[in-house]
Amino acid sequence: MKNKKHTFEPPDLMAIFQTMLKSYGPQGWWPGETAFEVMVGAILTQNTAWPNVEKAINNLKQAGIFSLPALLDVPHEALAQLIRPSGYFNIKAGRLQQFCRFLQEQGGEEALRKVETARLRQLLLGVKGVGPETADDMLLYAFQRPVFVVDAYTRRIFSCLGMVSGDEPYEVLRMGFESALATDVVLFNEYHALIVRHAKDFCNKKPRCVDCPLAKHCTIP
Ligand code: SF4
Repeated sequence: MKNKKHTFEPPDLMAIFQTMLKSYGPQGWWPGETAFEVMVGAILTQNTAWPNVEKAINNLKQAGIFSLPALLDVPHEALAQLIRPSGYFNIKAGRLQQFCRFLQEQGGEEALRKVETARLRQLLLGVKGVGPETADDMLLYAFQRPVFVVDAYTRRIFSCLGMVSGDEPYEVLRMGFESALATDVVLFNEYHALIVRHAKDFCNKKPRCVDCPLAKHCTIP
């Protein structure tokens, strides 16, 4: 399937969405109480599973430093130890503080809420350690902007469904989904959350194709 051009058909994408929604129900994403928590989580979740992020965030909360000023003040080494459960803790401590400096320089979260989506995306991508997936997690789940998050699960599932080759550049896939679907924050929020749920329950590295709710759409079984 290498070099296959993506073949997003809106009815298919919505049928896949409806099938997952019926199977799993609404996912209630993002698992974070505030926009700040979503942004911190988006950085900490890079290359790790969510339960590890929760442990790291709980450590920050218990240490009383889960705020922009406190995260800016805490010494790098202490921060790295607190977020250790999230893995790559030295790198992530640097990324987190870099992001907090950016947030402060921009006038905080409220100031960023006034920035138009394409410009905000550009600003987020300008922060060291924030790639397209992290930026889009923030745009969708912290700023409620209609951007479609593409992650490894999205690539795997839609490759199994025969709609992508899976190795397309990030932007090709993001724009493919966005142009095939209605521009709808609620839809994009739920769709990505359902993709993650489906990948965890069925379409993981060893797919459980028996009983998979998407089997009728799939090219694999
Ligand atoms: S049928 Fe198997 S490969 Fe296809 S989506 Fe389901 S789990 Fe993945």
